Amino acid sequence: MTSCIFCQIIEGSIPSAKIYEDEHVYAFMDIMPVTKGHVLLIPKKHVENIYDFTEEDAANFFARAPKVANALKDYFKPAGLNLLQNNGAPAGQTVFHYHLHFIPRYDETDGFDLSTWQTKQNEWTPDQIQELATNIRTSLEA
Ligand code: 5GP
Ligand code: ZN
Repeated sequence: MTSCIFCQIIEGSIPSAKIYEDEHVYAFMDIMPVTKGHVLLIPKKHVENIYDFTEEDAANFFARAPKVANALKDYFKPAGLNLLQNNGAPAGQTVFHYHLHFIPRYDETDGFDLSTWQTKQNEWTPDQIQELATNIRTSLEA
């Protein structure tokens, strides 16, 4: 039996509050919601993080994201919606089966705080940022 808790949720050996399932994805309520309606969308195929997707697996997975987003929009009528996901423990990943968080937002008092996300734009000049872009583009084209 797999040791991955999200694979076990897909198999049904760990219970979950499912909202949607098809051949490629499974969507369910987060057990520790940060706002009302916090949902996780996961691929049925076990991939650890964003780096592990093939293009085909990614296409099958991300094609479902608007469906889940619209279901939450219709049901909860939130003022906004954050889509977040963490890759690697230093980035906050705690379950190592890829998952996309859907976090409905209600107002500034809904308890979900992204205010620590502060720009460090003064640490790099526009030329340095342009150079980073050139280097990344070159490595993508290699
Ligand atoms: P991460 O920190 O890896 O981005 O997020 C993992 C998420 O999975 C957390 O929000 C956590 O509440 C959720 N989670 C962990 N274990 C379970 C579980 O057994 N059932 C459900 N429904 N959610 C879980
Ligand atoms: Zn898994």
